Amino acid sequence: MVQAQKLDLSDQARKIITAQNAGIEGALDEARKRSASPTDALEAMCVLVNQRGRYSSVTAEHFDRQDYEGIQIIDALDESLAKAVRALLKDFVDRHRRTPDLRALKFVAERLKAELHELPPWPVAYMVLGTLQAATVAFQRLVESGPGFDLPALEHSLVHFLLGLADRYVQTRERPLERHHSDIQREYIVVRRMKCPCGEEKYQVTMQALCHTEKSEPFDRLDLQCKGCGARRSITFDLPFFKDLERM
Ligand SMILES: [Zn+2]
Repeated sequence: MVQAQKLDLSDQARKIITAQNAGIEGALDEARKRSASPTDALEAMCVLVNQRGRYSSVTAEHFDRQDYEGIQIIDALDESLAKAVRALLKDFVDRHRRTPDLRALKFVAERLKAELHELPPWPVAYMVLGTLQAATVAFQRLVESGPGFDLPALEHSLVHFLLGLADRYVQTRERPLERHHSDIQREYIVVRRMKCPCGEEKYQVTMQALCHTEKSEPFDRLDLQCKGCGARRSITFDLPFFKDLERM
């Protein structure tokens, strides 16, 4: 490990994250009040997921959403939002207590799985939010096809299905080791979304190095080169869960 300079998010970026996280918390509190039935819980989830539009436009006022810092802000807020969705659905299931109709659950899970893209083992939160939305759209089509179950049973099953998706994601972010692996996976997915100012969409990673700061905090440095104009730059990623590896 070499000692090197880490890129830190600007004050502006931190301010956006703090303020928008508070917005997500507030929206979760509101959503929790409006989730008495499966129908309500699903509607409340959609309202909550709509927070993404709000923080995306606030971020876009100050940052390029196809550049490093803009992507870091959105990823941080998406993670909070995905965790909030999981909290909302889990809250509903814990309070509602009734077991869903198992035949309806099997039907919904099989049909939706067949229609959705499978998430990678360590997805980034935007992928999870996208899959949750895709699942609700696919569910509408499924209901319209008249499957022979009543709507409340199907909606109850959908809540359980969505909670399963959100749960799996939250585990990758909270379990030791998994959360470190998911941080590493995200680095390349950030690079994939970055666009060089020349307009080229693709950066190539020319080097990855594990570094540490003066205070011995570990971080990854990726050296990038634009495949279009050849411009070089370096970006860094915090590794707050690196210590999980040492504990093994
Ligand atoms: Zn370029």
